[in-house]
Amino acid sequence: MADLGHPQNTIAILQKYHFVFQKKYGQNFLIDTHVLDKIIRAASITDSDCVLEIGPGIGTMTQYLAEHARQVIAVEIDKHLIPILEETLSAYSNITLLNADILKLDIQNLIDTYNKGQPIKVVANLPYYITTPIIMGLFESHVPLDSITVMVQKEVADRMQAKPGSKDYGALSLAVQYYAQPYIAANVPPNCFMPRPNVGSAVIRLTRHPSLPVAVQDEKLLFQLIRASFNQRRKTLVNGLYNAPDLSFSKEEITNALSKAGLSSTIRGEALNLEQFALLADILKHND
Ligand code: SAM
Repeated sequence: MADLGHPQNTIAILQKYHFVFQKKYGQNFLIDTHVLDKIIRAASITDSDCVLEIGPGIGTMTQYLAEHARQVIAVEIDKHLIPILEETLSAYSNITLLNADILKLDIQNLIDTYNKGQPIKVVANLPYYITTPIIMGLFESHVPLDSITVMVQKEVADRMQAKPGSKDYGALSLAVQYYAQPYIAANVPPNCFMPRPNVGSAVIRLTRHPSLPVAVQDEKLLFQLIRASFNQRRKTLVNGLYNAPDLSFSKEEITNALSKAGLSSTIRGEALNLEQFALLADILKHND
């Protein structure tokens, strides 16, 4: 089968099947061989890897993955793409194609079946409407993962990689960096896709930490604090936490906890790093 990374081959297959793009599924197909090569390199795919691809589309990146990996599991929600994928991927015997919604799949079961429970690599040109639920769902479910290398909206990649004090720093930066080390491998302009998205894109690799970077007694409380402090970005941390509907600390308890953590009572959430949020969570935990 012809390399779908060349636009003329993508156009030919779309016309053959009278394919209609579904906006609701975030369908923007890659048509740039250089970007595809970069993704494979950024993900460091080797012939011992089992790769989970989310949303293969017409199979463009799937072809590249199948050339480099031992096994590829490709999960596509749009049933109209399945006959196309059966044709474009027919030359490969190392691909398992599933017609399913990634958010509803038992990923642990897939890893057990296709990789004997060993860590897999996730690679995808993600549907942008569900980028965060997909990535956080993978991390929070604690399935064995080596890394996630994905094309996302440029602005989302910047937020994932941001450090305290920068304008992009927020709950997503902390949530991602709790689980993984982010690295932006490439910026990708709209003309590398068909149809062109309205936003710039970036390839980001999230390499899972071998062990969590901070120890915290109550992970749920940590993330409640993080979300609450960025929900009201303009407010001080004391007000942000006090106003949060799912937290019930008094202003005095919060001010005391900040003081015990060596932080000013007028500090804002955006100034705290992950270690400081974890320390604060442990101190507030003892207020229960
Ligand atoms: N990988 C292809 C490429 O790079 O050309 C297509 C990428 S396109 C941005 C996103 C793909 O994800 C589409 O094929 C879309 O149908 C699929 N998709 C959207 N939501 C999905 C879901 N919940 N589960 C699985 N696939 C999904």
